Amino acid sequence: METKNTHVTIIGLGIMGGGMARRLLAAGFAVTVYNRSRAKAEPLGNAGASLAGNPREAARKADVIVSMVADDAAARAVWLGENGALAGAKRGAIAIESSTVTPGWIRELSSAAKKAEVGFLDAPVTGSRTQAAAGELNFLVGGDAAALERVRPVLAAMSRTVVHLGPVGSGALVKLINNFMCGVQVAATAEAVAMIERGGLNRDAALGVLTNGAPGSPLVKAVSARMTAADYTPNFFVRLMAKDLGYAVAAAKENALDLVTARAALAIFERGIAEGHGDKDIAAVVEPLRKDSPGERR
Ligand code: NAP
Repeated sequence: METKNTHVTIIGLGIMGGGMARRLLAAGFAVTVYNRSRAKAEPLGNAGASLAGNPREAARKADVIVSMVADDAAARAVWLGENGALAGAKRGAIAIESSTVTPGWIRELSSAAKKAEVGFLDAPVTGSRTQAAAGELNFLVGGDAAALERVRPVLAAMSRTVVHLGPVGSGALVKLINNFMCGVQVAATAEAVAMIERGGLNRDAALGVLTNGAPGSPLVKAVSARMTAADYTPNFFVRLMAKDLGYAVAAAKENALDLVTARAALAIFERGIAEGHGDKDIAAVVEPLRKDSPGERR
């Protein structure tokens, strides 16, 4: 695929999709964008993208169509809804679902794409706001290897790595495993921070031991710093991590596996949502634990 003659459509211009669309523009692709609320699309229009009024129109000229929306319901709406992208896609185009969604939805979408004579890959990502803006995501791909080779230059413009994990649905499943492990780490970090604060410890010294020791994963380091600073500027919303934990629990259940740690983490995220933190960064799940009685040590 030659860059400037390749038309790429991005549907969903939130924290992730907005950064991804900018990387494609910077790489020289012909980019069309659509976002449900138009305000998020306009800055991309000013940066050189064509704006479409609905997903069907957005898909019309595209060689590659990427969806980066919230969840299964949002993805269903943009691909298969009234004026959905599959109805507008050219024969032989390749549809890519990059949202974090369930393997069940991926299977259904893959069949719908086949009927529309459109190629299909599931390609969710790891990395967050910063990596999307910098073109340093990691794509976790499921689907046909030949389709992946065709779109590799498009994915490469947005990423550091592109890993082919197996047939359709493999990327989605690995992504849910990745995120349930991340959710568990964030929940454990929130409890650790609350325990440090209630224990009257020197917080920086105690967190230094943890983050420089075995529990100090990149995620634990990053979220514990945001919890300490009470900086909840969204990188990844609490409500979306709760969605991913729920999807992981359900996907595991299909294989008769009970994700006990994911369910425990989900309870902490649900509490965060119930107490008004759903639209904040995942680090905000520490807040309800900080104000728990007994203690009230803040
Ligand atoms: P976000 O900023 O909340 O963006 C969500 C996008 O989905 C927006 O464009 C939103 O449109 C759209 N949307 C929601 N419901 C819709 C519906 N019913 N119909 C059409 N569009 C709808 O979220 P994000 O952080 O970019 O996340 C996007 C996806 O990437 C999610 O699946 C998330 O789990 C995954 N992800 C996120 C991160 C991260 O760190 N942020 C990392 C990896 C993967 P409006 O603007 O109109 O609301």
